[in-house]
Amino acid sequence: MKIVLIMPRGALYRYKDGVFKKPIRYAPLTLTTLASLIPSEINAEVEIIDEGVEEIPNDFQADLVGITAITGTAIRAYAIADNIRNKRIPVVLGGVHATLMSQEAMQHADSVVTGFAEESWPQLLRDFLNNKMKKLYTQSPNLSLVNLPIPRRELFKQRKKGFVSIDTVQATRGCTNLCDFCIVPVAWGKRMYFRPIKEVIEELQQIESQNILFVDVSPIEDKKYAKELYSAMIPLKKRWVSPATIKMADDGELLKVAAKSGCRGLLIGFESVSQATLKQMGKAFNYADKYKTQVKKLHDCGIAIQACFVFGFDTDDKTVFEKTIDLVNKLNLDLPRFTAYTPFPGTPIFKKLKSENRIIEENWSFYDAQHVVFRPALMSPEELQAGLFWAWKQSYKSSSIFKRLLGARCLLPYMIPANIAYRFYANNLANYSKAMIADCLW
Ligand code: SF4
Repeated sequence: MKIVLIMPRGALYRYKDGVFKKPIRYAPLTLTTLASLIPSEINAEVEIIDEGVEEIPNDFQADLVGITAITGTAIRAYAIADNIRNKRIPVVLGGVHATLMSQEAMQHADSVVTGFAEESWPQLLRDFLNNKMKKLYTQSPNLSLVNLPIPRRELFKQRKKGFVSIDTVQATRGCTNLCDFCIVPVAWGKRMYFRPIKEVIEELQQIESQNILFVDVSPIEDKKYAKELYSAMIPLKKRWVSPATIKMADDGELLKVAAKSGCRGLLIGFESVSQATLKQMGKAFNYADKYKTQVKKLHDCGIAIQACFVFGFDTDDKTVFEKTIDLVNKLNLDLPRFTAYTPFPGTPIFKKLKSENRIIEENWSFYDAQHVVFRPALMSPEELQAGLFWAWKQSYKSSSIFKRLLGARCLLPYMIPANIAYRFYANNLANYSKAMIADCLW
């Protein structure tokens, strides 16, 4: 039996684009994890295709295809699924969009998997072999992350994929916060799942590279777990980067042990420069007036910061762009990035804005957080779109990059090329984003 697992490309993150003409992305963990979960008794040949770095071959052969998609890639996922099903190959759709929009996904799939698939995906495969595959598989209420198989990274390695890194690892799943723009608590519930630390360490020991990329969305919500994990990682002498909340800077002990275990970079959601906005979005644990001290603490530990900001909250007016860029420059944020507030379909925010007649775009390909898909409260959609593009360009002017990196002086061998790549992205975003969307619709 041959199983092919596909991750469709997004409109703005395609292979061969960008200043380095190669993908600046790390290997997704979803495909290698799904491959590892295939029961051994099925004895399947598995192929994984990340369309962000390669084309889907024309001579496509498989007994079953699994496709995982986020909202921004859902339309392309449906087009790929329809095409494959026309060849009478059954297709399973999963991922966050299928979780939130399962009825819609079912129109393009023989089966849909919602939520985390650790138990449902192996069950689906056994049912498939017995000709009993159901239309819908949901996440087990007793989901446990104990004794999980190691993701099959060798499937990427064997096919020489051009990722920046294939050493993506996950210790926790989920988040206990409720930021209103975030899809995580809506799709997977306001709770966390933890892998046993011993199993995470064993996996890290198997990875040859010293550089690790954690993809946990919010790994330090349970500080005791985080401190134990980082302490156990110290002897491994790895260097790692990860998403985290800014709370990392407020716990001296946690920060110290994270830095000692090799933390060199964090992706942090600053989201807004306005405390009123932070409160409105449910991220009141971020304090805009503490950002300066917190950033300094992280930089003092040698930790670079990829800083995320969102524009378009109901409290944001046209001054938000300039205020944000001022702060980004003052804080010497190593790698800032900006998104438009995006009410993802299937979430309460989408329903609310829809009921207020404020949704202006329902082609999910535009739900990539770089296109404005709703009517903001205090500016027009066009002003929000223009402000977003302006913020990108301002942040990645040569003088701005130079000043920020000189102030931060963290992880420069990575931050310099990353800033150059982002500069290319920033300068081209406005010009070709819509053309690329059209290209991705297939
Ligand atoms: S802390 Fe991060 S992962 Fe958690 S809800 Fe907020 S944005 Fe989402």
